[in-house]
Amino acid sequence: MSLLDGISRVGVIGAGQMGRGIAQLAASHGFAVTLADSGRDIASRGKTTIAQQLDRLVDKGKLSTPERAAIIGRIEPSDLYGGDLEAADFVVEAATENVTTKREIFETLDRVCRSGIVLATNTSSISITAIGAAVTRPERVIGMHFMNPPPLMKLVEIIRGLATGDATYETTRALAERLGKQTVVSRDIPGFIVNRVLMPMLNEACFAFYEGIGSVEDMDTAINLGLNHPMGPFALMDLIGLDTTLSILEVMHRDLGDSKYRPCPLLRQYVAAGWLGRKSGRGFYRYGETA
Ligand code: NAD
Repeated sequence: MSLLDGISRVGVIGAGQMGRGIAQLAASHGFAVTLADSGRDIASRGKTTIAQQLDRLVDKGKLSTPERAAIIGRIEPSDLYGGDLEAADFVVEAATENVTTKREIFETLDRVCRSGIVLATNTSSISITAIGAAVTRPERVIGMHFMNPPPLMKLVEIIRGLATGDATYETTRALAERLGKQTVVSRDIPGFIVNRVLMPMLNEACFAFYEGIGSVEDMDTAINLGLNHPMGPFALMDLIGLDTTLSILEVMHRDLGDSKYRPCPLLRQYVAAGWLGRKSGRGFYRYGETA
């Protein structure tokens, strides 16, 4: 008997870049997916974006047309309130990186989801223990941190909150492995493993650029070729989202209480300007029609 027996529908909360990627990944592995955002219309637009992503795979010969149709047919757009999530056998929350938003979502999930299921969060930095405290079943709450983009990146960090149960951990690990991922375990300390190391580097790149050490392009080329990173720090921040990068740094700064994590003022300024990276068409670089 597998730990995943009885898990056929995955609920994904948030139809942003991570939620879409997780929904695509789960549907590509045969799971039915309920993709829920704060409004059904946002979730429907998310499904359209996934379809466009799949079209690109078909064009490249990496996916057949019938496979594309089957994957997209497994994804149902929804919201948190219509009752659709009652059918979910496992939920991954991937909404905006904000503790109040996430606690409110988990309070709702606690009401609308069946009692035995795992409620996982894809948070990059927020305390799993604090999110778990928002529900009546903290033993079923866990961190399941996919990397961006979820269909391609191999790693999933699993984070146990203080109250997370063993069965919740084992089920989450089994699901991540079924989705083709390698898992690592992190303690519930802000930033977990990957962002604890990555965020100070990205923040330092912002400070160095702020001091005029070099251009965005030269700094990205230097890190790309000099350190053999697949992507320089500015291209990576544009991919992650400058708002998400700032939120993660703010959580680390506040919750670890160390000034070394203070976000660079330039990053705050870009976010205030709405320069959020790829998702808004402009960050450190320009994208699409505005490029
Ligand atoms: P995003 O801004 O692309 O998408 C966030 C989505 O959440 C939006 O569609 C928004 O409408 C939705 N949302 C906001 N409030 C909601 C609510 N109350 N109910 C339902 N949906 C709501 O953000 P993202 O980059 O997809 O990040 C989502 C989560 O994944 C965050 O916790 C982030 O830290 C984490 N994460 C991000 C990355 C990355 O590289 N961007 C990588 C790993 C993990």
